Amino acid sequence: MIAGAELLPVLTPEKPASTNPANEIAKRLTGRDYISWSAISTFRTCPLKYKFRYIDGLPEESVSSALVFGTGIHTAVEQHFQAQLSGDPKPDLDALLFAYRSAWLPHDPDAIQFGSTETRASLDALAARMLTAFLSSPAASVRGQVLGVEEEIRGMLIEGVPDLYGRVDLLTEDADTLVVTDIKTGRGKWSAEQVEDSGEQLLLYSHLASEISPGKKIATRFLVLTKTKEPVVEEHVREVEPGNVKRTLAGVERVWRAIESSVFYPAPSTMSCASCGYRSACRAWAG
Ligand code: SF4
Repeated sequence: MIAGAELLPVLTPEKPASTNPANEIAKRLTGRDYISWSAISTFRTCPLKYKFRYIDGLPEESVSSALVFGTGIHTAVEQHFQAQLSGDPKPDLDALLFAYRSAWLPHDPDAIQFGSTETRASLDALAARMLTAFLSSPAASVRGQVLGVEEEIRGMLIEGVPDLYGRVDLLTEDADTLVVTDIKTGRGKWSAEQVEDSGEQLLLYSHLASEISPGKKIATRFLVLTKTKEPVVEEHVREVEPGNVKRTLAGVERVWRAIESSVFYPAPSTMSCASCGYRSACRAWAG
C-alpha cells in the first residue's frame, strides 16, 4: 500500500508522532527509526557493508577522496541556493570555496584515500574550476522559487517498511511544476542510461514531496558538475512516471525484508571493494 507522506518542515511545522510499526523494528536493528536511501543503496551494493555500517556501527578505516570532494562541492552549491532562499546576497567564488573546504575538516588527512593521480591541491584546483563553471551556468539561476535546500523529508511509502527519511538537495517550483533536484559530481557527462539508473532516490523523494503542491506536475532533476579538465554543468530533468515509482518501491520492500531477516553476505566487486572502509573487517568475517 502506498501511504501518505509527512514532509518536514515545509508541510508540518512540528513532527507528528510516527504510527508506522516498522519504525520500531528499524530502531531495534539500527538505532534509527527509519531507513534512508543511502542505507538501501549500501545494502544493494554490498549487504555485508550495510551490516558493518548500520547494524554494527563500525567506524570506517578510511574514506575516499571522491566522497569528501563530492560532499564539499555539494555543500558549496547548496550554500549558493540557501542564499537565494534566505534572500541574502549570492555568495562569490571565495565563499563557495570556503564552504567546499569545510567538508575536509572532519577527516583525518591520513585516513583519506586519494586516487593515484590526485592530491589535495589538485582537487582544490578542480573545485575552483567546477564552482566557477557553476556560477556562470544557467543552472545557478532558479526558475520560479526555492522552497527548500537540504529539506528534510520523511514518510511511509510501503506498509511493513520503515519510513523513508532523507534530505532533498533543492526543492523549487514554478507556475505548474514542482522540481526535486539532486546535486551530483561526475567523472564526465551523464548518458541517458546513467540518468535512468540513478533516478530511484529522486523518484521516492518526489513521491513523498507530491503533497506540497497538490495538482502540480512533479519533475526530478539532476544537476551534474563534471570533474573534467574543462568542467561542464548539466541539467537532466524528467517528469515522474508512476510505473517507475511502483518498481522502485517493490525493490525497497525486498531490501527491507532481507535486512529484517539478517541476510548479510559479502558482495565483492572491483568497483566497491577498492574504496570500502571495511576491508579488514570484511577479511575477518567468517559468516
Ligand atoms: S570489502 Fe567489498 S565485499 Fe567486503 S564489505 Fe567492503 S564492499 Fe563488501
